[in-house]
Amino acid sequence: MRIDVLTLFPNMFSGPFAESIIKRAMDRNLITIMIHNLRDWGSGKHRVVDDYPFGGGTGMVMKPESLFEATESIKAESAYPSAPVILLTPQGRVFNQGIAAELTALDQLILICGHYEGIDERVREHLITDEISIGDYVLTGGELAAMVVIDAVVRLLPGVLGSEESAKDDSHTRSLLEYPQYTRPQTYRGWETPQVLLSGNHAQIAKWRREQSILRTLRRRPELLEKADLSPEEKELTSYS
Ligand code: SAM
Repeated sequence: MRIDVLTLFPNMFSGPFAESIIKRAMDRNLITIMIHNLRDWGSGKHRVVDDYPFGGGTGMVMKPESLFEATESIKAESAYPSAPVILLTPQGRVFNQGIAAELTALDQLILICGHYEGIDERVREHLITDEISIGDYVLTGGELAAMVVIDAVVRLLPGVLGSEESAKDDSHTRSLLEYPQYTRPQTYRGWETPQVLLSGNHAQIAKWRREQSILRTLRRRPELLEKADLSPEEKELTSYS
């Protein structure tokens, strides 16, 4: 997969993508992430990319020219002309694990980070093909939102997580939260690890984890259970608890 990010603040991306799983995926050529500075398409000596809003009001609005030209130049060189152009915006569809999985099917993503008061509406109408919000709150810019989306998508790409890691039981993968995890020491400050996890009985461990996952979801996010695939016995478990 190739991901192109259009931003006014390219340096913000250097930290998160220089570490851990994303860096490993880039080093292994499982993913190419290109960060483009929108100012390169700004106009005049000062590389202007924003202007005052028509009709008055506070803040600045990102002008259409640089956003269109930057996106068109990426598309002109792309092997995937139908790649989606995704705007990060608090007005978009709210990101979740399902959308992350949906995006893994694509060969290229073009992510546009807004800033200031946002972007000229004509960009939204004539350039953008999808709009994603990372939650019902307002960030200063789309950069952190783009990083969240990239991180969630990249870790689902085949081969990105090592053999000792897996996304299959992760929270939200199957409309359930993950079961509790324990590691050494077996007893810490008198708090014990559940015996079943030390038993070596894989069937019992799997059963315990599945039950814990269901009960935890029931207590913390009961609305998720509506979409979970539960057996009749598991449904009964939720009605007793
Ligand atoms: N005035 C805009 C509004 O009320 O919809 C918000 C502008 S916000 C200060 C600046 C930029 O941050 C947005 O253009 C968007 O790219 C990004 N942003 C803010 N909150 C976001 C969120 N929850 N999800 C994704 N992007 C967000």
